[in-house]
Amino acid sequence: MTTAVPSVSDADAAVILARCDALARHSSLTEGIERTYLSAEHAAVNYRVAGWMTAAGLTTWQDAAGNQCARLSGRTRGLPALLLGSHLDTVRAAGRYDGILGVLVAITVAGRIAASGRPLPFALEIAAFGDEEGTRFGTTLLGSRAVAGTWLESWWDLRDEGGVSLREAFLAFGLDPAKVGDAARAPQELVGYLEAHIEQGPVLEEENRALGVVTGIAGARRFLLTVTGAAGHSGTPWSRRRDALAGAAECITTIERIARTEGLTATVGHLKVFPDAVNVIPGKVEFSLDLRAPDDADRDRGWTLIEAALTDICATRVLHLDSNQVHEAAAVACAPRLRAAIAAGIRSTEAVAARQGEVGSDSGAEEPTEPAPREPALDRRSRRDGDRRDHRRRHALCTLCRRDQPPPGRVGDRGRRRSRR
Ligand SMILES: [Zn+2]
Repeated sequence: MTTAVPSVSDADAAVILARCDALARHSSLTEGIERTYLSAEHAAVNYRVAGWMTAAGLTTWQDAAGNQCARLSGRTRGLPALLLGSHLDTVRAAGRYDGILGVLVAITVAGRIAASGRPLPFALEIAAFGDEEGTRFGTTLLGSRAVAGTWLESWWDLRDEGGVSLREAFLAFGLDPAKVGDAARAPQELVGYLEAHIEQGPVLEEENRALGVVTGIAGARRFLLTVTGAAGHSGTPWSRRRDALAGAAECITTIERIARTEGLTATVGHLKVFPDAVNVIPGKVEFSLDLRAPDDADRDRGWTLIEAALTDICATRVLHLDSNQVHEAAAVACAPRLRAAIAAGIRSTEAVAARQGEVGSDSGAEEPTEPAPREPALDRRSRRDGDRRDHRRRHALCTLCRRDQPPPGRVGDRGRRRSRR
């Protein structure tokens, strides 16, 4: 692949990181970052991001679902678009890069192409989705579901913690619920979708690799499980106890064991104990299960094993098990042509760095392999140069570098310290 567009420079990277810091200040929490769908903070970041999109030479608009969008025409008007982007909302006590980085990288990429004066044979569009995490209304991906045209009428009555319905939030944000369908894009208007995202696990970082290619999106199923026994005084003899929490604990470690053996991802992240008192045997426990695998059949086989094992455990302990699936999404394999293009792009950053003499002879010749091509030499060099700065950025709590911390007063930094506790 020839490099018609110059590789992203250190200066571009610095701008992107500074913008991540700027958006981190738009938070509903004074300690930590939280930015939810259709909130005042959502409106504020849309406004700022739209400004950066305009400055990059793009045409901007906010779609009918509150997603901030932009477009750069291709060689001729009306061409289908390659969509780039990610999300601007956050979970509670979030980091500053999840989602945000993908939007800001996309703006920089589009800006460089606009400035090159060499239009592409397709249009470029950016979508900064208003909701991916589902923090406010409990249903995820509202922004992209609107763009995909799979919005459900039943969502309008979802309510946030303050009792505000999705319909009311739409109106308060200046959107018309009746027009949400206008956000939907027809498949023939798009040629593909690409998203840069920070790694959601520690693997690349531990292997000292900056970049990797995602091969697919795991298929997920979520359940709400309820174990019911009998609440009783702590003096109840062992033979008479029907302890729902002890049963749930055995269920959870069994889920872990099965998932490890079967090569699945399983997370129990929510647990509620009733009546939740120190001297009362728990009569009921409610817990969540998030089950994922790259292949839907593997995931479903795993659930069958888990459900059978949990039923056994509860039968032995004279407990009742209820399982209720609350979410299901099929696994999606990423398009081979886009995976190949990204792998080639990563290789070209190494080649450029090698030509500039910034990389040792051992590096450029090696073929990177999916899913994790070697870290571009440019990044290795900048890390050497910026060791102290990076250490500071990553280790806000590190006692070794406390004195080196940036001055207090930046909301995001305070939040990061808190979220790492
Ligand atoms: Zn994300």
